[in-house]
Amino acid sequence: MLLLLSSSLISVTKAPTTLIRSLSYFTKTTTVMSINLQPHAFAGNPIRSKTPKSTDPFSPTSAFESLKIRLLDNTHQQQQPSSPDFKVLPFRKGRPLACSIPGEAAPTWHLGWINLADCQGFLENSGAQLREEALVYLGSRSEDDVVYWAIDVSDQNSSVPELGSKQFCFVELRTLMVATDWSDEQTMGELAIAGHARSLLEWHNLSRFCGHCGEKAVPTEAGRRKHCSNELCNKRIYPRVDPVVIMLVIDRENDRALLSRQSRFVPRMWSCLAGFIEPGESLEEAVRRETWEETGIEVGEVIYHSSQPWPVGPSSIPCQLMVGFFAYAKSFEITVDKEELEDAQWHCREDVKKALTFAEYKKAQRAAAAKVEQMCKGVGKGQSLVGDFNVESGELAPMFIPGPFAIAHHLISSWVHQDTDAPNGVEVRSGQSNNSMSNL
Ligand SMILES: [Zn+2]
Repeated sequence: MLLLLSSSLISVTKAPTTLIRSLSYFTKTTTVMSINLQPHAFAGNPIRSKTPKSTDPFSPTSAFESLKIRLLDNTHQQQQPSSPDFKVLPFRKGRPLACSIPGEAAPTWHLGWINLADCQGFLENSGAQLREEALVYLGSRSEDDVVYWAIDVSDQNSSVPELGSKQFCFVELRTLMVATDWSDEQTMGELAIAGHARSLLEWHNLSRFCGHCGEKAVPTEAGRRKHCSNELCNKRIYPRVDPVVIMLVIDRENDRALLSRQSRFVPRMWSCLAGFIEPGESLEEAVRRETWEETGIEVGEVIYHSSQPWPVGPSSIPCQLMVGFFAYAKSFEITVDKEELEDAQWHCREDVKKALTFAEYKKAQRAAAAKVEQMCKGVGKGQSLVGDFNVESGELAPMFIPGPFAIAHHLISSWVHQDTDAPNGVEVRSGQSNNSMSNL
């Protein structure tokens, strides 16, 4: 099955050369690949690197107990001495609350965290009461003495909170993704938190009932899991992740890469092939099958590159996991499956390099950041501005590739910037038997 990459996977910031992924290979008795990576967009979440043990006040269990007490006492303003502070990120229809702060080159967006009292007030304004099960534990940062939560307020019609001088607005996650400066570690971290939160909330919406007996499914572990409310069934239900292979198919002999277009892409955008993994299939098998089905090309060696959580797909798929590969072609004649793709073509390294060079990623990112600022100021509120981000590459380039928020960008730029001293880019010496990376 083809993965439908959305047309809003469009250009945005220019990848700083320091951030380009570098690959190096070593040969001993087996081929080993080492990859020096910075986190992709939506990875590198700073508040969930470790889940504290249950006895820790920052753990999901302890934090949830303390949340219940505060809501019962209705004295949430008065923090218990040993208990951490709580911050809540509201979402409406999959959109996190955000604000925008002016910056030198462009405004910077931030997540719209509110405290428990404001969250309670927000719900009370539309006649609802804040219940502890509505809050989903996101993580904590003990150095800040804070536990972070998310809540879905799609059913509440209250106006957006205005706190101090900051104006808040619910903004599409894709819009925030495009507006994120890829070199800004803090905003990248906030994007990852928002992605994780959206995935969990969408999954809660999708898993209201037990798939086994049909009874109501209720949250447990502070919303990180669910279980069936039927005691005879009591099935545990885990958040859903849908793995997808995404591959840059490479013709080593002729130093070309296979790029494809889907009909829903914006004009001139080309990207990697991608597709969902089927049950009972290895990642390598999925790479070979998808490439064969969509383009008729046979793939031999498959090399892992990196992976990226992708929480901005359709809401029926709360979080995809994009698993990126280099896939080395064994045959070169393309037969495009027109039901799946609009086109697929081999592109030489120089042409792809030009596409990367001419794309005005930074300009598009700043334009998106300015639009988030407008939305927070109330200009165009309620509109989805994703469609406006069709900032194409420079006129001189006949094609462009997705921006640095997408793993496809990094697969392609890794290949373009490989060590060209080697006869065909980076040489993977895989002549040895037991080659753990190649899975030939
Ligand atoms: Zn059940």
